[in-house]
Amino acid sequence: MKCPVCGAVYRPAIHSSTCRRCKADLSDLIRLHDQAVWYHRQALCLLQQGHYPEAEANNSKALALYDSQADFHALAGKLSALQGNFQDAIVSWHQALKFDPQNAIAFTCLQMIELLTGN
Ligand SMILES: [Zn+2]
Repeated sequence: MKCPVCGAVYRPAIHSSTCRRCKADLSDLIRLHDQAVWYHRQALCLLQQGHYPEAEANNSKALALYDSQADFHALAGKLSALQGNFQDAIVSWHQALKFDPQNAIAFTCLQMIELLTGN
């Protein structure tokens, strides 16, 4: 997670919700981020149980709260693919790689799709 003011990477610290570089108060952002992570975890649980549309709904809530998390986009892609929606899946995985070029799920899945479609 990055400070929206100066772009420094925020590292969670006890007793502190301010940016270590510019001292901006990040408590609202952290709250939103935590909430988004919670929805994302719900989505992962639902995915394991095979409830894809419900998982997708929860992950969309996570993305609505916090858009720049590669894992959320990677999961959105996986859920789209599981429901046969490969165009959306590819868009989501590219989004994931935009936020984190090292994202393993997005990278592997895109490679697989490219092998399957032969381009
Ligand atoms: Zn800052």
